[in-house]
Amino acid sequence: VSESRLLPPVFARVVGQRAAVAALAAASRAPVHAYLLVGPAGSGKRDAAVAFAAALLCPDGGCGECRDCRRALSVIHPDLVLLERTGASISVDEAREISRLAARSPVEGARKVLLLTDFHLVDRAAPALLKTIEEPPASAVFVILAEQVSAELVTIASRCVRVDFSPLAADEIQSALVAEGVEALAAGRAALAAGGRLDRARLLVGDEGFVARLDRWRAVASELDGRGAVAARLADQLILSCEEALVPLKAVQEAEVAAAAARAKATGERLGTKDMDERHRRQARRVRTDELRAGLGALSAVYRERLTQAPSHEATALIAAMGAIDEAGRALVRNPNETLLLQALLVRLGSLGG
Ligand SMILES: [Zn+2]
Repeated sequence: VSESRLLPPVFARVVGQRAAVAALAAASRAPVHAYLLVGPAGSGKRDAAVAFAAALLCPDGGCGECRDCRRALSVIHPDLVLLERTGASISVDEAREISRLAARSPVEGARKVLLLTDFHLVDRAAPALLKTIEEPPASAVFVILAEQVSAELVTIASRCVRVDFSPLAADEIQSALVAEGVEALAAGRAALAAGGRLDRARLLVGDEGFVARLDRWRAVASELDGRGAVAARLADQLILSCEEALVPLKAVQEAEVAAAAARAKATGERLGTKDMDERHRRQARRVRTDELRAGLGALSAVYRERLTQAPSHEATALIAAMGAIDEAGRALVRNPNETLLLQALLVRLGSLGG
């Protein structure tokens, strides 16, 4: 309690991550020029970064209530610049744009915060940014988010104060969902399936078909008979069921588009949706991958359960099956043709018997 009383109120919205939040709260009193927030997707880096920005822009260090805080928390403060990639990685042109924006004076106060996301994907744009991040204008504070420190990010990382985020614990996710009004049992189930990610847990809560879809994956293990045609049909069905996982996300995205349109109408601004469309496409891609991973996890669990009861001469095939599923899960990061990947896996599982 005494610890949370010392934190600026603006950090109350961050779920878990006590060490990271304490570090950012301390830093907000006397910031250096660049921070690197490193942690897995859905661990709250972005919420923490936005709260940090509000603490930096608020005259009271993050009261959570003043106009600066409110606009910073909604990411509409003119001195909080959010930069998100539009393509698969950050482009050299985007890096130049970041440098150009960093050189500008703050609009309202003495300080400007540049929030740069997805910097594990900085790729070939890193050299174009290094000088700006090494010698930024005195008014600029960089807050850089990355899921890990990739080889291309190492040099930039060495110029930043690093703050680490870990996957959230299931009980932290559950409490956060309950605080948002979700019923405790549903919150617990979503928290367990979310792999430490609050964003995924929020989607799963609104996704009534989730449990049924996992059951479909589990059923596949008994339906495989070694025939390629059966494997192909099941792979098609599973890929199709992944599309159902996108329904709750689409509802969230449509609401976001409608809110942006209403805002544009109210202010008379032109509605530019290109960045939002790109972000929505990336979100959809991620939900699909998460769904495939969850499905593969459910399928693997079937073989694991069988292993505990199987006679020893069947153990080798079951272990090989789990290995093949694990391998397919790891292959997902390379953006493969998902149908072909799944077909190949199911043919292999079918040939192993089990
Ligand atoms: Zn404030």
